[in-house]
Amino acid sequence: MRFNSTELFKDTVNRYAAVSRYSIRWTKSYKMQKLATKCKKGCPWYVYASWSGDKTCFVVKSVKPTHHCNRQDFENRQCRPKWLAREFMMQYKLDPNWPKKALAKAVMEKFGVRLESWACYRVKREAHRPLHGSLQHHYMKVGSYLKELLKNDPDTLVEVATVNPENEGEPPVFQRRYMSLSGLRKGFLNGCRPVLCVDGCFLKTFLRGQLLVAVARDGNNQMFPVSWAVVESEDNDSWHWFLFNLKKDLNGFEAEAVATLFPNVEHRLCARHPFSNWTKKHKGPGFKNAFYKVVKATNMSAYEIALQELRVLSQDAATDLVNEQPKRFCRAFFRTFNKCELVVNNLA
Ligand SMILES: [Zn+2]
Repeated sequence: MRFNSTELFKDTVNRYAAVSRYSIRWTKSYKMQKLATKCKKGCPWYVYASWSGDKTCFVVKSVKPTHHCNRQDFENRQCRPKWLAREFMMQYKLDPNWPKKALAKAVMEKFGVRLESWACYRVKREAHRPLHGSLQHHYMKVGSYLKELLKNDPDTLVEVATVNPENEGEPPVFQRRYMSLSGLRKGFLNGCRPVLCVDGCFLKTFLRGQLLVAVARDGNNQMFPVSWAVVESEDNDSWHWFLFNLKKDLNGFEAEAVATLFPNVEHRLCARHPFSNWTKKHKGPGFKNAFYKVVKATNMSAYEIALQELRVLSQDAATDLVNEQPKRFCRAFFRTFNKCELVVNNLA
């Protein structure tokens, strides 16, 4: 039997072992010139191959095809993540989010091997690497991606910050990126309530970092993304950079709404944050409802009545709520200009 390369030979033998459920091991590999594989101790099965004399093909020189051992169930040395990734590559190509349960089922049906959850993730990672490239590879494409965006939509605002590399001659290292598409900006300025929710969240990749977003609400109170940024961490500096770009971005448009929105902007807090501070001290049945009754009261008299109810429950709780700056998160104090009664952020 002849093969074009050592890799093809190795792959074919591994595949035979996986499908027939024998756990074989490679015993000889002298710079990939000679390859030999054996089965378990006591089993005579054996294959030996090496390059032909003229080095044109890899030839199987000797084989003992019979096994005296038992087939293996549930585990097989050949079913390693890298090998399985190649085996199910087409599946990942068709459906990049192919669930791990489906993979485990397919491996059990095809090779009789039980795959642990962590191994499923490794198979997925190995399959995605050649299909989509590594994350570092993606970050290297940021420049050309943004150029292409600007070519198609010159009004798009993108800002990229980089840090100088440690060694001379190396390319700059990605630090932050701000992005706002002109379509979304026009949509916000022309069709949304003049309210922006800003928040940040962790990015769950090995490169880490944070995603900062500004989300508006449209006429139906639905989510409307305006701009977002990937930054190295969530701190004063990165927030300042994000909001500075956002303001520059929206002011550049000279829309009336922005001119009205920014000079004397009303800053609200998501009620969940003062609530989580407050509830550390005041726990118990009725406290949450009483808190949100105060928060959601739509006018001053309803606010006072709700606060009085809370005072009956606990005088300290009411005092602590008043100390949490209720003007920032209680509906009764909100301005009516932006026609938005939002008390929790949730969107961003
Ligand atoms: Zn055997």
